[in-house]
Amino acid sequence: MKTLLLSAPGEFQDYRRQLHKDVCIGFVPTMGALHEGHLSLIKASKQNNTHTVVSIFVNPTQFGANEDFTQYPRDIQKDFKICQEAGVDVVFAPEISQMYPNNDEISINPPKNMGYIYEGFIREGHFNGVLTIVLKLIHLICPHHIYFGQKDAQQLLLIKRLVSDTFLPTKVIPCPTQRDFDGLALSSRNIYLSPQDRKEALKIPIALQNIKKAIQEGEINTSVLIELGKKELKGLEVAYLDACDYNLVQIQKIRQNASIILIAAKVGKTRLIDNLWI
Ligand code: AMP
Repeated sequence: MKTLLLSAPGEFQDYRRQLHKDVCIGFVPTMGALHEGHLSLIKASKQNNTHTVVSIFVNPTQFGANEDFTQYPRDIQKDFKICQEAGVDVVFAPEISQMYPNNDEISINPPKNMGYIYEGFIREGHFNGVLTIVLKLIHLICPHHIYFGQKDAQQLLLIKRLVSDTFLPTKVIPCPTQRDFDGLALSSRNIYLSPQDRKEALKIPIALQNIKKAIQEGEINTSVLIELGKKELKGLEVAYLDACDYNLVQIQKIRQNASIILIAAKVGKTRLIDNLWI
């Protein structure tokens, strides 16, 4: 099987048109710098679809003015090779001008209650950018299934809302967070961490593990669980450590299959996020 590398939306539409009508397309949107986290999404897609499409696009509209858009790691050749080895059918890697052909663009606003807290509060306009590009990509790719990591919990919940609120004919498939040998959630931004930062960063998964254990032992009071987490995170610049439901509303008590613990913290110059789905 040959992996195609397409960059023009029109090229993708031509490819899509010549496919048999019975195909089942799985789509994995990414910003590249692929790691095992991305690969787990690709594997999930390969298992349940006849064709897997991976997009690689560092989306400028989801980066704030002071963020790492220009430094974000880019290596399309390496990523393409990883996709080839993983048996991806199409890598779609457009130019910015192809995804945003106009200076004055349509943009999607997230719901007020979900889109402007946590990541949306710290990263102004972030979810407008995410929802806008994902909507464009879904219209272009027309996937039956679209794969997102639980690592980006708020993003995943907002994409689910995008799909349900706008009646998009695709199913969102959440995939569990993949971790490095030491427990740190895999992220393209982990390369920014110095060895010392990395040691410090491990406080984040440890805090989540401690919270998980306390919940397993019967603790459901979120104030107790948050205090427990805070103890472990001492020394880090914590942006938030919170417990909420799937509408991102803060909760006082944990409910099984309906709660998340969210953490964002800065380690050195790098902001990391991680979470625990309960
Ligand atoms: P990104 O390239 O960072 O935009 O991520 C693309 C997709 O990969 C998103 O759905 C992420 O949630 C997912 N992803 C990133 N890191 C991980 C991870 N460690 N485990 C599982 N999925 C991940």
